[in-house]
Amino acid sequence: MSRPLIIAIDGPSGAGKSTLGRMLARELNLLYIDTGSMYRAVALAVMESSVSSNDDVAVGSLAAQVSIDLRGDPDSMEVTLEGGDVTEAIRSEEVTHLSSIISAIPEVRRAMVERQREMGKRGAVLNGRDIGTVVFPNADVKFFLTAVPEERAKRRFVEEHAQDSSVSFDETFADMSERDQRDATRADSPLATAQDAVVIDSTGLSVNEVFERMMVVIRERLENTKS
Ligand code: C5P
Repeated sequence: MSRPLIIAIDGPSGAGKSTLGRMLARELNLLYIDTGSMYRAVALAVMESSVSSNDDVAVGSLAAQVSIDLRGDPDSMEVTLEGGDVTEAIRSEEVTHLSSIISAIPEVRRAMVERQREMGKRGAVLNGRDIGTVVFPNADVKFFLTAVPEERAKRRFVEEHAQDSSVSFDETFADMSERDQRDATRADSPLATAQDAVVIDSTGLSVNEVFERMMVVIRERLENTKS
């Protein structure tokens, strides 16, 4: 019996993790778990509650209690919070900002990591910041996706501008840099490249080119485990 395949994709914002994660999950017929959307759902839960975002203990216990679900196939994933559809709501600027802050709280991370391990144990493509280092350190294949900051900000800007046309590129760039800095310097599970990760710099590459590179790595790994 073959054991479940776990593919980890980590990297900074705008590196293409979601697009590629979805494509790989579809190709390999695996569950797709976008862990960022779980931190976003916790941020939204905080905003909708009477809990102060500065109260780490209260935010931590809210994160441990709140019900968050990821449903559907990779291309039409629905995120629910306490049973309500929050797929759109978790993409707002306020949620983006707050998710980056509350994700540094160790109790929040512990609660999310536990759920992620449970959700992914039967095989999955997971994307985030700490998948290969903390969530699934024994993942079958680990990728660290990156690109130069200007290109990553451009990709984010296209997404954000579609939602809110008053957003400027400079704002997107500044906000993204601040969040990446916070992710990389927090004490608990900072954004880092796992020692055994395959690093792919997607600067100047098309989505399909990155996808092909990733599939070559995965196929090679699968061949090696067979023999
Ligand atoms: O990936 P996305 O930008 O949607 O994630 C939202 C925020 O959640 C990030 O800015 C990051 O701070 C946090 N995050 C995290 N660990 C993960 C996934 C996301 O800290 N595994």
